[in-house]
Amino acid sequence: MGKKKTFVLYPWLGVGHLIPMVELAKHLLRHGLSVVVAVADPPDTEAVSAAAVARLAAANPDISFRLLPSPASHDTLRLANPALRELLRSLPAVDALLLDMFCVDELDVAAELGVPAYFFFTSAAGDLACFLNLPYLYPTLPSFKDMGKALVHCPGMPPIRALDMVISMQDKESDHTKLRLYQFERIPEARGVLVNSFDWLEPRALKALEDGVCVPGRPTPRVFCIGPLVNDGRAGVTHHECLAWLDAQPERSVVFLCFGSRGVFSAAQLQEIARGLESSGHRFLWVVRSPPEEQGRFPEPDLERLLPAGFLERTRGRGMVAKNWVPQAEVVRHEAVGAFVTHCGWNSVLEAIMAGLPMICWPLYGEQGMNKVFMLEEMKIAVELQGYEELVKAEEVEAKVKMVMETEEGKILRERLALVREKALEATKEGGSSEMAFDEFLKDLEWSTGSCGNGECH
Ligand code: UDP
Repeated sequence: MGKKKTFVLYPWLGVGHLIPMVELAKHLLRHGLSVVVAVADPPDTEAVSAAAVARLAAANPDISFRLLPSPASHDTLRLANPALRELLRSLPAVDALLLDMFCVDELDVAAELGVPAYFFFTSAAGDLACFLNLPYLYPTLPSFKDMGKALVHCPGMPPIRALDMVISMQDKESDHTKLRLYQFERIPEARGVLVNSFDWLEPRALKALEDGVCVPGRPTPRVFCIGPLVNDGRAGVTHHECLAWLDAQPERSVVFLCFGSRGVFSAAQLQEIARGLESSGHRFLWVVRSPPEEQGRFPEPDLERLLPAGFLERTRGRGMVAKNWVPQAEVVRHEAVGAFVTHCGWNSVLEAIMAGLPMICWPLYGEQGMNKVFMLEEMKIAVELQGYEELVKAEEVEAKVKMVMETEEGKILRERLALVREKALEATKEGGSSEMAFDEFLKDLEWSTGSCGNGECH
């Protein structure tokens, strides 16, 4: 191999995008490659992203983070393009630009500078198959919000109720939907797409991608499933009180409830969850945030007021309610945890898979409704909470917690998770499918830069 390759990684500002991009950076470093993570300096309004960048940079001193001065935000990341161009020009050599899946306008910067660009797709391969197809499929359908329970058929996915399709794309005419369709339409312009998943988990989606049926009339970019890339929870830099509490609980006795970086519930829903947990009789660790209407006034939830009277007293010792955030990667791997009520964000799903932890689905936003269907019907790694479209009743919370923690069905689910975990570990070992896909990606890159001469790399 020639000189050490340098990769510039460019994440989108969402926490669920920053975290896996940092895992990708670690993966590249482990392979002896050189990495710069360029982050558009989030303005004050992006407090969550700014805090996440600071936390990730502190926890990963080996990674070179470059803050790009820019007026960019979630919606206007392209405003950071001049700063990104400057950075790329200032580095002695850049072998590839690895872009978050939403950073399509940065393809123009890569093309201008002659740098090969790949996307890093931070959700399931099934979502990728669907997103690539949507610019062609959606114009032939009514708005998802008007289709309700009618099924949407995308190549590579099981049929999915329209109401479970991407929440922010339910209105076909909205500016947001148009932006997403534009982004999805440009994904095939990249040389390839690295996906944070592994071959064994998603055969149907990967076949559709390989067969080229997702993008009609255009070549599908090469797909490299190189995951799961997740925080292994071993960094040990966080000292949250919940970890000490978990240490004192029996093995597999605790139900963990956590809903990503943005999951919030109404006060009425918090009450139902609390009652369901209480009557289940099981131990729990529950991450609670202020309801949406209170977020501005109370960044910290007022638990005494929000939860049923006396709940905290009655469940003291067997339950812990944490405010806003816990170190999830460490929690899911703790041996005291026996089930995970999740919003089905893809990082959370992968973290649970790597911990062999059965899941109870409660999709909230983004593509989580789609992930839920994959998890139930294809991967068979979860059960779902009925009623999540409106209000999940206390009885339902109690029933599903008991099902997973106590019954034969729960045992079967746990065995399935043990198998899926085993397959994930195999994929990421030397000679496993994800490691081989990563090698293929490096060869593809050599080919694109011509350093492989006559194509012997393939
Ligand atoms: N996370 C965490 N603590 C929390 C909530 C979330 O560490 O209290 C982490 C979680 O481990 C995961 C990421 O934040 O790595 C959330 O990503 P995911 O794709 O699950 O959901 P998103 O936030 O994108 O909806």
